[in-house]
Amino acid sequence: MRIMALVLAIAVLSLWLGLPSNRAALQPQSAERGPVMADIEDSDLFFQNTIRASRPPRDNSQKIDALLKRMTIEEKVGQMTQLAIGMVANGRDQEIQIDPAKLDKAIVRYGVGSILNVAEQALTPDKWHDIIRQIEETATKKTRLGIPVIYGIDSIHGANYVQGATLFPQEIGMAATWNPELMKRGSEIAAMETRAAGIPWSFSPVLDIGRQPLWPRFYETFGEDPYLAKVMGAAFVRGLEGSDVSSQDHVAASLKHYMGYSFPLSGRDRTPAWIPENYLREYFLPTFDAAVKTGAHTVMVNSAEINGVPGHINRHILTDILRDELGFKGFVVSDWEDIKRLVTVWHVAANEKEATRMAVMAGIDMSMVPLDYSFADYLIALVKEGAVPQSRIDEAVRRILKVKFELGLFENSMPNAALKSKIGLAESRQASLQAARESMTLLKNLNNLLPLAKNRKVLVTGPTADSLISLNNGWTYVWQGSEESLYPRDRPTIRRAIEAKAGAANVTYVPGTKITRRPGSASNSTPTDIETEVDIPAAVRAAAAADAVVLCLGEGSYTETPGNIPDLSLGEPQRKLAEAIEATGKPVVLVLAEGRPRIVNRIADDASAVLMAYNPGNEGGQAVADVLFGDFNPCGKLPFTYPRSPNGLMTYDHKAFETERFDNAGIRPQFEFGDGLSYTTFSYKDLRLDRKTIGSNDQLSVSVTVTNTGRRAGKEVVQLYVSDLVASLSPAGKRLKRFAKIYLEPGQSRTLTFKLRPDDLSFIGADNKSVVEPGEFEITIAGLKDKFEFK
Ligand code: BGC
Repeated sequence: MRIMALVLAIAVLSLWLGLPSNRAALQPQSAERGPVMADIEDSDLFFQNTIRASRPPRDNSQKIDALLKRMTIEEKVGQMTQLAIGMVANGRDQEIQIDPAKLDKAIVRYGVGSILNVAEQALTPDKWHDIIRQIEETATKKTRLGIPVIYGIDSIHGANYVQGATLFPQEIGMAATWNPELMKRGSEIAAMETRAAGIPWSFSPVLDIGRQPLWPRFYETFGEDPYLAKVMGAAFVRGLEGSDVSSQDHVAASLKHYMGYSFPLSGRDRTPAWIPENYLREYFLPTFDAAVKTGAHTVMVNSAEINGVPGHINRHILTDILRDELGFKGFVVSDWEDIKRLVTVWHVAANEKEATRMAVMAGIDMSMVPLDYSFADYLIALVKEGAVPQSRIDEAVRRILKVKFELGLFENSMPNAALKSKIGLAESRQASLQAARESMTLLKNLNNLLPLAKNRKVLVTGPTADSLISLNNGWTYVWQGSEESLYPRDRPTIRRAIEAKAGAANVTYVPGTKITRRPGSASNSTPTDIETEVDIPAAVRAAAAADAVVLCLGEGSYTETPGNIPDLSLGEPQRKLAEAIEATGKPVVLVLAEGRPRIVNRIADDASAVLMAYNPGNEGGQAVADVLFGDFNPCGKLPFTYPRSPNGLMTYDHKAFETERFDNAGIRPQFEFGDGLSYTTFSYKDLRLDRKTIGSNDQLSVSVTVTNTGRRAGKEVVQLYVSDLVASLSPAGKRLKRFAKIYLEPGQSRTLTFKLRPDDLSFIGADNKSVVEPGEFEITIAGLKDKFEFK
């Protein structure tokens, strides 16, 4: 009887939540294996194939020359101008309407080449089609030369400004999957759904390296390691652009924010960074280099400054390195209002006209002005006065037209009604669920507390337990991700997913504390989230009646300046809740839904289990519940070093400091880069190098055998690190050079072989050039080590 009642209760709850009654719909045959994704046996093989997979674009240079010959200065500068949607529309949110008079001014009078964004609300595909059609009709039918507009939008973790689109984990979670195949699938879906809305250009991926966890855009990165980020970044670009960007399923990428934006000394957004050029090249350039090789069509510039030079006037970075060294052929777009900021924030130009000259001469091809016509007016005047040569304008416009031709916009820039049905497909949602599951990173599991049996009594508590906002973070329906009403009603939060799995009768939910948003814009020193206590005593009472507590902590939503925080400490109310819950002595599973590592030291030490969920997207509630109750065997690995204290910021590749010998607190992070447990066990043996010495024309084969020694099928991430034992610049302790992500049945073994080339042993020397120095190197794979020599 009781079982019947339970089944009924689950069915009713599922209906009420809009969950599929037949869970098989979202449950692949083997959850661990995933629906379609192949194993990555060698990250290098994947990477090499990925960067090479684009077809050379058709040569449009004659058409571009012919157009350029007919264009006036005004028309050329118009192409270089990008305005925000509000400049051609009225109304807010869903009510936004194109204003024909404003549109004519922008497109016909100023010849504006690009429009961007909608930061306030995700629009329906129909609404998008309506807006884009009007813009393109005006551009192609009412202007002298009929040049189409390139509309751009931030599809950061899916087509997040399109209602009904599929949202994926934020980049930090995608990095935790260590599965670039899944990343590529995710960005293919993002591209398909963005293009289906009529939009051909996305301002993604973020290729900044997350080595400063305070930075409020940390979650938008692939974490701290340039190799992992480079492989994932190339996968992202290939997924967006496909092998032929003009196809109706793809969009042009924008690599951002070139470069060094993510490393502000203060941790606050858009504040100065100090990065010597060799370090810049070692850590911050490789992702961009790889993505340029992948064929990406546009680059967006670092909004802040490095070494006292704002990104937007850094000719060395924008032209010498990007064009002359990397060979980038697409166009460079500024970030939001950044030419104005050269005057108002950075004080490197006395007025906007001078700032315009400096930025264009440094290499900016298109200015995201975006709220007035100043850029166009000043640039026209500068060309007429001879302060900016015609040739520079032609160069920029040539690049912009080239991208428009390659996107196929000259043939057809109108939205295609037939594509709308591709938005939000069940199979896309399935891929997103798989990504969320593979991102889940189990960092602690004392006495195998997890997986929980489904008949245990569970208390679910904490401010992120019942919030889709915390599962998604910024760039979700609105810029700050903060509009609860826009989130889909049929996606379970962590709490709802646990209720659906364990039965509502077994689950008690008490929020304990809550996170709300401070109204208005945040100042630099006040975080936007406000944390308050709700009912900590009630949570403690409920804990007493439970077998285990799922304590969900973390953050609300934020990005850019509103996400600035003074340090990484968790808010006081969350700490108080955690302490009170842990004092009950009940086993605690700490679940973290957060975009950067907030300090959890004592809380994590006292918890029996810790699951890092990052910002896994709308399927994240289910993914968390699947892991907690053993329906999915976790396989994520941490893509950054989780600090133990607010000042304990350190990356895994740090050097062996003296302090480690003397200070027994040492450099002990809470959790290490690459950490992540499974419900099965893996053993490693037979690390073999095919030679002991290599020269500059040789390859080194490194093989290792991995066995699933436990009783469950699971995926393992195999990580190969190289240490340069002696070098002319003090070497990093170790660097990630290869990885694999493989599926193993219980008892199954696989031998993997990685091939290293001399350039895998290189570093950027004091002269800013790459060098491989003769000497000894050490390979480490999961505790196994061996050495070889480079001669
Ligand atoms: C952000 C960019 C974004 C742009 C357009 C800027 O504030 O820094 O990442 O692409 O806005 O939304």
